[in-house]
Amino acid sequence: MRSAQDLIDLEYRLGARNYKPLDVVLTRGEGVWVWDVDGKRYLDCLSAYSAVNQGHCHPKIRAALVEQAGKLALTSRAFRNDQLPLFYEEICALTNSHKVLPMNSGAEAVETAIKAVRKWAYEVKGVPEGKADVIVCANAFHGRTITIVGFSTDPLARTSFGPFTPGFTVVPFGDAAALEKAITPHTAAFLVEPIQGEAGVILPPPGYFRRVRELCTRHNVVLVLDEIQTGLGRTGKLLAEEHDGIEADVTLIGKALAGGFYPMSAVLSNLEVLGVLKPGEHGSTFGGNPLACAIARTALRVLVEEGMIENAAEQGAYFLSELRKLRSPVIQEVRGRGLMIALQLVPDAGGARRFSEALKDAGVLCKETHTDTLRLAPPLVIQRAEVDYAMEAISRVLRAA
Ligand SMILES: *Cc1c(COP(=O)(O)O)cnc(C)c1O
Repeated sequence: MRSAQDLIDLEYRLGARNYKPLDVVLTRGEGVWVWDVDGKRYLDCLSAYSAVNQGHCHPKIRAALVEQAGKLALTSRAFRNDQLPLFYEEICALTNSHKVLPMNSGAEAVETAIKAVRKWAYEVKGVPEGKADVIVCANAFHGRTITIVGFSTDPLARTSFGPFTPGFTVVPFGDAAALEKAITPHTAAFLVEPIQGEAGVILPPPGYFRRVRELCTRHNVVLVLDEIQTGLGRTGKLLAEEHDGIEADVTLIGKALAGGFYPMSAVLSNLEVLGVLKPGEHGSTFGGNPLACAIARTALRVLVEEGMIENAAEQGAYFLSELRKLRSPVIQEVRGRGLMIALQLVPDAGGARRFSEALKDAGVLCKETHTDTLRLAPPLVIQRAEVDYAMEAISRVLRAA
């Protein structure tokens, strides 16, 4: 067997260095736990950026994968398959949607939504051809394609990747007045995360999304909520929009949609927006394949049937309250909703990276986001004793700092 160091060296030598992972080489996972190649166990407090909300290798989702893999994996959309319509029926019932468009990665769902709202703007709203504008937020994260990084405000994401796609206007997150000022007769949509995840779990001020919903309705602007990270139970509700009592016109989901077993994303919409797409105008070879659909159907079923969403609310509240009891000179703020939590460190704490390294040694895996934020987002199946385990490691590491 190759040693962990061997594998790390091999990856470093042969792979593009577009990530800087923690030096832990994982080989097995079960629920909230993962094991490295030397047999050491860790509590996963990242959940693959919220793509394994249902926990690692959930037995029922795994069984659905194995069963469907033995029957039919891919047909392309040139033909129909017997899983896609059932996936549509179940996701629509669950999320109160009317139309669905399945893709693979989150970025593709975002791209799909941008294409759909532009076409909607021309055909339904009456925006002159070529003039449609989409309003987005500063510090947002929506993926890594050229178009998406083109409207990112993160220099690391965009520098040296231009020229970029025009047609985007950036406003501050959480500022409804700025949104109102930015809306013009050419505005097709407002694309926004309910809670900014990659920015460091940034919650908007109370009432923001109600105001956003009103503005979008009043000005005939499509409200697109990117729930790729906040959705599917992460914040203690199926969709984070429920916390604000609003409904988006278009909702983007991905990540945990197929339980971490398979890449799958989807655009969920009212009739009007996805209704503008006609045969041949958009597609994906793998989008909506029967394997993805069978896995997603079970991943959604266990999320609901096994009470994971309620558990995220309960354990998230407990985790937050325990973190807020910590008295440490390096903690500036603790914030979050459900199991989407951030520990904001003071600027002179020496950066969050050394804390994620130390936590790894203490048996807890999490990742810094930007320089001074530690994000904690365990699988939604976490139990109180496991939150206590994480808290014990976190307080030990903070005491040592
Ligand atoms: C992860 C993420 C994406 C991109 O998803 P990929 O599958 O990595 O392309 C888009 N939006 C949000 C909010 C995300 O967290």
